[in-house]
Amino acid sequence: MPVLVMKFGGTSVATLDRIKRAAKRVGVEVAKGYDVIVIVSAMSGKTNELVGWVNETSPLFDAREYDAVVSSGENVTAGLMSLTLQEMDVPARSWQGWQVPLKTTSAHASARIEEIPTDNINAKFAEGMRVAVVAGFQGISPEGRITTLGRGGSDTTAVAFAAAFDAERCDIYTDVDGVYTTDPRISSKARKLDKIAFEEMLELASLGAKVLQTRSVELAMRYKVKLRVLSSFEEQSDDAGTLVCDEEEIMESNVVAGVAYSRDEAKMTLLSVADRPGIAAAIFGPLSEAGVNVDMIVQNISEDGRTDMTFSCPTDQVKRAEKAMEDAQASGEINYQQLVADTDVAKVSVVGIGMRSHAGVAAKMFDALSSEGINIKVITTSEIKISVLIDRKYMELAVQALHDAFELEKAA
Ligand code: ADP
Ligand code: ASP
Ligand code: MG
Repeated sequence: MPVLVMKFGGTSVATLDRIKRAAKRVGVEVAKGYDVIVIVSAMSGKTNELVGWVNETSPLFDAREYDAVVSSGENVTAGLMSLTLQEMDVPARSWQGWQVPLKTTSAHASARIEEIPTDNINAKFAEGMRVAVVAGFQGISPEGRITTLGRGGSDTTAVAFAAAFDAERCDIYTDVDGVYTTDPRISSKARKLDKIAFEEMLELASLGAKVLQTRSVELAMRYKVKLRVLSSFEEQSDDAGTLVCDEEEIMESNVVAGVAYSRDEAKMTLLSVADRPGIAAAIFGPLSEAGVNVDMIVQNISEDGRTDMTFSCPTDQVKRAEKAMEDAQASGEINYQQLVADTDVAKVSVVGIGMRSHAGVAAKMFDALSSEGINIKVITTSEIKISVLIDRKYMELAVQALHDAFELEKAA
């Protein structure tokens, strides 16, 4: 039988009623003749609560124990979803990551999927089970420890299963009815897109549009998974939601496809660093070893052999970054006067494959921000995106101004 993957995010399984509603939708696909793999997230808010408990107990926590704690939310919803389906007389059972087993690297809290053997689940399908309910977000390391795939990781579980089982489609059910030109919670002018190219979705996701986890888009692109985002709250037709697809499948695209933002950025500045060949390696080596994901980097002009080095990283990694720099200072690897952390910043980005062939996007972006009196602190660009770091208090204003400037309310 053809296989379908259906993923339900936190809000879609937030209560027993919503689990029932999701289960009914699964029942519809089973009735159509699909064997279904359901990937569930934890109930909404649960993972945040678990992360909070870990941080309160141990600020520089052992990531193996972090994973042991934060993976537990999905176990609850997997069992409840399976029970709900059984109550509807749909043959179902739950699977935790290690039972599949979904094998990952040992990079705790941000593990990557290495392999998903299909034999266990296929054997059950062959025996008449119609739905495998799999706890998203979690797997098992070569050392036999529970791992998690990073926040939002159930999306990646879903796409990886779709690839492994050669599913007809991977449907991501969430609390919005598709991918929009920007977060519809920030701008009422945001428009739903019928289709979006993998490359654009990849950039939007990595720049903060959390509707899909970045890694899930990468996997879908690599394994040619038919990926769809749709709402679990509305009745759905077969062409509902947004299809994430190859660029060639989109007839006409806008220069800018969307605007993304990220609140969780911090701007770190090392003041008066002794400048010498190899200084960047001496700074960013220890940061990387400490697990700090550095995004933007700016080195100022050097004066009298000393310079300022600015970089951005996620706010929840500021403590790790500070410790890594203090340690490097103590061991003599680097020499700086002060490390200043500015956690009141946000990153706002415009993304579009049309930028490859259109000039002037950056100028228009900077102009729109300056018209609102918004100061740009750091800029980075790539072939299909431009990102700026600004004061967080202007974030929503910036998103709206850019949405207007690129006339995204006319997008479809
Ligand atoms: P789930 O719990 O289902 O995984 P998430 O909260 O992770 O849902 O992702 C859905 C949310 O992503 C939406 O509620 C919306 O606020 C946010 N979002 C950000 N950018 C976009 C965008 N461009 N299009 C749609 N949703 C977006
Ligand atoms: N529950 C996890 C999180 O909130 C994974 C997910 O929902 O995708 O990050
Ligand atoms: Mg999500």
